[in-house]
Amino acid sequence: MLPYIRQDLAQFSAYKPHPGSDSDVPVATQFDRLDTNESPYDLPHELKQKLAWTYQELIETNRYPDGGHEELKQAIADYVNESAHITSSTFTSENISIGNGSDELIRSLLIASCLGGNGSILVASPTFSMYAILAQTLGINVVTVGRSEENFAIDLKAAQSALESPQNPAIRAIFVVHPNSPTANALTDAEIAWLKSLPEHLLVIIDEAYFEFSQNTLVTEIQQHPNWVIMRTFSKAFRLAAMRVGYCIAHPELITVLEKVRLPYNLPSFSLAAALLAIQNRQLLLDTIPQTLEERNNLQTILAQQPQLKVWHSAANFIYLRPRIINTSIEIEGYLSKLTEELKANGTLVRHTGGGLRITVGSPEENTRTLKRIQAVLAQLNSD
Ligand SMILES: *Cc1c(COP(=O)(O)O)cnc(C)c1O
Repeated sequence: MLPYIRQDLAQFSAYKPHPGSDSDVPVATQFDRLDTNESPYDLPHELKQKLAWTYQELIETNRYPDGGHEELKQAIADYVNESAHITSSTFTSENISIGNGSDELIRSLLIASCLGGNGSILVASPTFSMYAILAQTLGINVVTVGRSEENFAIDLKAAQSALESPQNPAIRAIFVVHPNSPTANALTDAEIAWLKSLPEHLLVIIDEAYFEFSQNTLVTEIQQHPNWVIMRTFSKAFRLAAMRVGYCIAHPELITVLEKVRLPYNLPSFSLAAALLAIQNRQLLLDTIPQTLEERNNLQTILAQQPQLKVWHSAANFIYLRPRIINTSIEIEGYLSKLTEELKANGTLVRHTGGGLRITVGSPEENTRTLKRIQAVLAQLNSD
């Protein structure tokens, strides 16, 4: 124990990133990486060349990056309006704040609302782990409620009662994902109605990281609900996970606060250039989405035919499943760990989380291999 470090960080476990950096063999040549919900496709060669040109000719590495992000904010606002089929002036750059990944924005929202004993956050488990992880690093209390075992809708009774019962400190911010990770379900009408019913002294964060796959957005609600924030990312459909760019859409007053809280040069020039290029070429980049959705439906259908698996409908680019055959949760966890390990030994990385497996939809070749491997591993586990 380091005597000068906060005690609460001693038991804290950090987010577990991609494996592989400790190996001699590059992860890319070893595995089908279906564990972090990225796009299977790198940027097209022509865009990489343009980006390389920008780096060579326009970016001065000795200069600080553009700390205001105005050009990218405007391009994002145009995209937000266009993709929600609303008037092109509905959202402007004043409604946008850009982060070093959505992860930075989550942290900024926590700092702005709850830090220093000012509030607790509410999450419904299983969900994206970074809300609770980042809250814990800031010493912010996390209140967790459950979800339906049937369709993973939030236990709204428990959520409402958490809001009404005394918490120390009181809940100030609620994080939901639309569609949720790892369970891939979109918010139901009842969940949306509940979010709309929440009073304006609560900050409501709706993470739409998978919007381009679900085509479902609540962004227009911001006009009636100034306490809502919609978060998006360039890490998934826009194929830029390596660049670390996320953004949020909110009322200008809230954006001003987020802009105060973030680091002045939070985005490297190269990342800003990449995000701008991606959004300008969105048609080309988002062109692969119909194929991904088709692959997803196909994977879903075939996996659901496995008697050992329960597979849920996905509104995103990943599939969530749980084993059917076993009853007590300890056995399920053991079975899932074994499944994950065996798949890894056969060359496919998947994520074991929230009492199930989350499998990213990859390229058609990766998906074919993954199906074969899952079938083989299930047969082997059955005969053990
Ligand atoms: C992948 C993902 C993100 C993206 O995070 P970045 O920091 O932008 O890479 C955000 N939210 C959820 C729920 C995700 O699954």
